[in-house]
Amino acid sequence: LIGRKVVLDNDANAWALGEYWRGAARGRRDVVLLTLGTGVGGGLIVNGKLVHGRSGMAGELGHVTVNPDGPRCDCGSHGCLESYASASGLRGLVEARLGLPPGSPLPAQIVDSENNFSVRGLSAQARRGDKLALEAFATAGHYLGIAIASFLNIFNPELVVIGGGVAGALPYMRKTMTAQVRERAFTAIASQAKIVRAALGPRGGVVGAAYAALHPPPRP
Ligand SMILES: [Zn+2]
Repeated sequence: LIGRKVVLDNDANAWALGEYWRGAARGRRDVVLLTLGTGVGGGLIVNGKLVHGRSGMAGELGHVTVNPDGPRCDCGSHGCLESYASASGLRGLVEARLGLPPGSPLPAQIVDSENNFSVRGLSAQARRGDKLALEAFATAGHYLGIAIASFLNIFNPELVVIGGGVAGALPYMRKTMTAQVRERAFTAIASQAKIVRAALGPRGGVVGAAYAALHPPPRP
């Protein structure tokens, strides 16, 4: 209709391409990208190519099971990575710790001006040494580390890139995350892989979309 070829992909896949082309993963061939936002998105680059799978659904890394008995996830499963290492996951951890039903009003320190749960607020609390905030991030980091250990063992990447609004709280998650990576991943694999913050920020997806448009996949 518009007479032009169109390339479609999801935001996390596009972000992975952006980091690969112009960001933290520039010059790398094997990269796992995780976006820790409201949910958890994933993008996989293997030997310089984005992995799409049979029907474009590959790389849903936020929905690997990290706790078989964990809370129900929007995807229909239980105990997904997204149930912990995302804004909604952190909110759930805080609610559970405070004994509140899901969706309850939260303490003023951890909501924004519209009374929505704020990861930034929770991070500020962690910075002040607040036990509830530190525990929530430690739990999120624990499950993030379990997932990353599996990604390392499966893909043997050079780099795990972590972006999204929750990535700013990595300092509060890193200790428990690293402990699980050490515990579960092959040492030979883990020692070759760096876990780094994304370099592009919120415009990573736009950069990656440009890359995808410049490097369209061959017609099936
Ligand atoms: Zn899920």
